[in-house]
Amino acid sequence: MKIPILDLTRQYEAIRAEIEEGIRRVIQSGRFILGQEVEFLESEVAEFCDVKHAIGVASGTDALLLSLKALGIGPGHGVIVPSFTFFATAGAVHNVGATPIFCDINPRTYNLDPDHVRYILSTNHESCSSHHRLGIKIKAIIPVHLYGQMVDMDEIMTIASKYSVNVIEDGAQSIGAVYKNQKAGSLGHTGCFSFFPTKNLGAYGDGGMVITNDDELAERIRLLRVHGSKPKYYHRMVGYNSRLDEIQAAILRAKLPKLVQWTAVRQKVAAWYDESLGGIRNLNVPFCSDDRSHIFHQYTIRVLNGKRDALRGWMEEQGIGTEIYYPLPLHLQECFHYLGYREGDLPESERASREVLSLPMFPEITLEEVVFVTQTITRLLSGKGA
Ligand SMILES: *Cc1c(COP(=O)(O)O)cnc(C)c1O
Repeated sequence: MKIPILDLTRQYEAIRAEIEEGIRRVIQSGRFILGQEVEFLESEVAEFCDVKHAIGVASGTDALLLSLKALGIGPGHGVIVPSFTFFATAGAVHNVGATPIFCDINPRTYNLDPDHVRYILSTNHESCSSHHRLGIKIKAIIPVHLYGQMVDMDEIMTIASKYSVNVIEDGAQSIGAVYKNQKAGSLGHTGCFSFFPTKNLGAYGDGGMVITNDDELAERIRLLRVHGSKPKYYHRMVGYNSRLDEIQAAILRAKLPKLVQWTAVRQKVAAWYDESLGGIRNLNVPFCSDDRSHIFHQYTIRVLNGKRDALRGWMEEQGIGTEIYYPLPLHLQECFHYLGYREGDLPESERASREVLSLPMFPEITLEEVVFVTQTITRLLSGKGA
């Protein structure tokens, strides 16, 4: 048996008719950029997330970049980001000319540790040595809802308001996740989604969206995605070319109505995994907090005592795809050497990068496949009941 970590062809087979109808509709309309499909998708996503505005952009990375720009963040400003996340979270901060301030994570959820956020803000970072950060004013926090589970947003919003900093939610892995009855992306000043094909709501190319309840921010982001022009050819600010295209929007509109059902199936698959893997030595199943849903963008286990890489190699031999999200925390990346972080600065991020392993997870995976995955893991770690 061969089991990939993700198989998008199965989903396509199931929704082929709707997808092809959507693509045909766009081509026949002759309108490919910022037309009806994007407009409809924006209102459908806004309704789904229970927010006033949704603005389609070219990618999740651009959703972050335009949010930062719209909030006036640039040179001289610092933005708190987790070190344990996909690169784009910090890359966007760097690319607006601001400085990423790396923060450690809670080892159970892998999300920003609110205590460390508070510590960084209370010292405006002076405590963390190194000249390059001197004189930097922290202006925002980007909590990342990693793997499909939301950050403790009450804590983050309380800290943010105490220190008057903005909050940009990176919900690229968490569209549809819920925290105390509120949807991911709807609690911060803006929320950012990615429609990269492998995300829970994936396009067939790049795409992204910003959501917000703030009218002014929404207007600025709408301008920024079209070179800052309004009306056309009259530029109030220097913006970008960052648009979601009509074909991707039509594809996403075909998929959005299925998202709730797909999420429920991911949760059922996670429960199958939990049940079989729960008692195994040297393995922790994902922790799910009571006050929030986990939508399992990834089903990520923690493998203890240095056994992760051996397990991964063994599973590969048996035909099972796995992935390490992420093998090197951002504060130790070569491109951020100039920030002066050293190994040991953010121990939980560093430990997670050595211990996490994501297993095959997609709504179309079968029980038989999950059983094969868990039996393969059990055979190597041979802990269950032992
Ligand atoms: C995927 C992802 C992004 C970037 O999204 P793109 O659409 O690929 O640009 C940003 N942050 C996180 C946490 C992601 O997983």
